[in-house]
Amino acid sequence: MNKKDLKRFKTALEQKRDAIIATAKKAHWDNMEDTRHGDFVDQASDDNEVHVNLRLLQIDAKLLRAIEAAIERIENGNYGICTICEEEISLARLNAVPWTSVCISCKEKKTA
Ligand SMILES: [Zn+2]
Repeated sequence: MNKKDLKRFKTALEQKRDAIIATAKKAHWDNMEDTRHGDFVDQASDDNEVHVNLRLLQIDAKLLRAIEAAIERIENGNYGICTICEEEISLARLNAVPWTSVCISCKEKKTA
């Protein structure tokens, strides 16, 4: 992969990472608000909302780790190489999912 593409993916990954961190921080503060106004909120629905937020945060945490690993691979010079078969991942796939660590055929084998 050429340097220009690498730089473009790195910027995209860093922006996505920053967006997730900003969303996670906001969700955290929203939860704090909920707790403060807890007296006015029905307890059951309050619990549900916290659960939904936690689940969202867990998904984001997983994505965040994938993004950070991808940035690391860029720095180590093995970005865009499938971690299973060591073939190059297609640019089209990286454009769609820049934090992916496996090529499309390994991904299909994994989920099949
Ligand atoms: Zn592969």
